[in-house]
Formats: sequence, C-alpha cells, structure tokens
Amino acid sequence: MRTPMIVANWKMHKTSVEAAQFIQALLSKDLNSERDIAVCGPFTTLTILQQQFDDSNIFYGSQNMHWEESGAYTGEISTSMLLEVGCQIVILGHSERRQYFNETDDTVNKKVKAALETMLTPIICVGETLELRKNEKTLEHVTSQVKAALVGVDKNDYTKLVFAYEPIWAIGTGETATAGQAQEVHAAIRKIVGDDTRILYGGSVKPDNISELMQQPDIDGALVGGASLEVETFAEIINYK
Ligand code: PEP
Repeated sequence: MRTPMIVANWKMHKTSVEAAQFIQALLSKDLNSERDIAVCGPFTTLTILQQQFDDSNIFYGSQNMHWEESGAYTGEISTSMLLEVGCQIVILGHSERRQYFNETDDTVNKKVKAALETMLTPIICVGETLELRKNEKTLEHVTSQVKAALVGVDKNDYTKLVFAYEPIWAIGTGETATAGQAQEVHAAIRKIVGDDTRILYGGSVKPDNISELMQQPDIDGALVGGASLEVETFAEIINYK
C-alpha cells in the first residue's frame, strides 16, 4: 500500500516569520490524516518548521544537500546539519538545480546514496524538457535519469526513496501534463523501481487538477510549487477528493 503524499516545495520563498504564519494557518485546517504531508522550505525556515510541526504528523525537509559530511564546500549543507534540525526528507535533483546550479545525474546519485546512509528520505526529481517531449524522447530521458540516480543503490532500499516526475515544461508555467501523459511516464518509472516506491507528479498541480492526477494507478502524490505558497490552495490539494 502506497500512502498518498503531498509535498510543498517552497523554493526560494518565505522568511521565517512568513513560514511560521503559514504553518499556524495550515495546522488550524482539517487535513486528511490518511495522507502524508510534507513541507520543504529554505534552510532558514527549517528550525521554524521543527518548532511548529513538533506535535503534528507533518514532515518537513530541505530542497538540496551536499553528499559529503563536512569540508571546504562554501554555501553547502550536510545531512547531519539537516538531521540536527529534525528534517526527515530532502528534495534532490530538482530541475531548477539541474538547470541553474550544475546538478548532474552523477551528483544526484552521490546525494541519494549519502541520504540513504541517514534517516533522510530523498525525493528524487526527474523530467524532460519540451524539446525532448516533442522529439518523443521523454521515456528514454526520464528512465535514464531514474537509473542514473539508482547506480549503486541496493534494491532493498528502493522503498526508502520517493521519485517525483516533473516535466520541466510544466513547472511554474501553469501548463500541466495530462493525467494520461503523466501516467505513461509514471508507469515507465514504476517498472524500474517496483510496486512499493512512491512516485509523485509535479508541474503546476492545483486544486482543480489534483483529483484526476491522483486517480491514475501509478501517481502516488504531488510535489507542489506555486500552489503550496498559499495555505488555502495547499490545504485543498491535500484534501483532494
Ligand atoms: C516544483 O517546484 O517542484 C513545481 C512542481 O512547481 P509548480 O507546482 O509551481 O509547477
């Protein structure tokens, strides 16, 4: 049984004060308890998430990390630093990091293995550009990203991972993959990772498209960017019917 999972990716949004206000408002909502809920905030919000989510069943984490435990890596953060503030999850290989910060399949793989040595659950992002989709290279590209992330990972550990299929052309654009397009890619990822690994969809998820996406057999949840910044819309997505 794969528990549905709804994850907020705040990207570079929200100060600590804004994060605290958001969480207080979120916790005052009636949220479906049969879903795993998580918030991935900027590093400076993590202690706030720790304090505010203390008595709740909401998970939280960061949007990146380094694979080394410590060292001369200016601007980076390690697994133990994230664990120290109670993080349970970490987003890895988001397309914005691949596009703007030189994240590669190889660095994603190193980070996945480093996270697995700890209690952190990695959410590994994969997805194709519009050009690759137009050239009918989507499945080839996405499955190659998934396999690259899994190099050297024990198959028994696949259940500790979460994948997020995020077509780059649908991120922050208001354009969503159709449920059928998303399901096709999720099914291809499923063949590699097996039945017990959750695969989220990300790319302009909104209250009005989440239900149809969640009806697909291989879509186990959503990674939500823009629509996770407002409590009302995020709560509506969590409580999809
Ligand atoms: C994301 O940042 O992972 C994302 C899917 O963003 P948005 O929902 O804004 O498209």
